[in-house]
Amino acid sequence: MSDISEKDLYYAEMKRIKELEDRRTLITDGDYGLPPTRCPCGGRIIEETSQTEAEDIGRRYLICNVFENDGLHIRKNWVHAIQEEVTKLKNEVHEQSKQIRKLKELVARVENMR
Ligand SMILES: [Zn+2]
Repeated sequence: MSDISEKDLYYAEMKRIKELEDRRTLITDGDYGLPPTRCPCGGRIIEETSQTEAEDIGRRYLICNVFENDGLHIRKNWVHAIQEEVTKLKNEVHEQSKQIRKLKELVARVENMR
């Protein structure tokens, strides 16, 4: 603990703010498609069905099991997550089929060299 910054009066607070910002960044940067199995807070992502009128009864969410509405936890509309995931997978399949087509062309060229 000889480092001056650790003795700084504001060091702990600055470190806490940095950790919160890192968690917010993880949540916003990873907010496309299905969320990971764990929230950046360490909580598990579970499926929950809304029981309140304000959020349409029956609407499904993927949500951190220790969710608090403070911007530091994952909570995502299930339908949106699935739609984004399907789009993401369709794009991946499209890219892979382009690569397969290129590889087939290369294989054909190599076979013609024999
Ligand atoms: Zn969480």
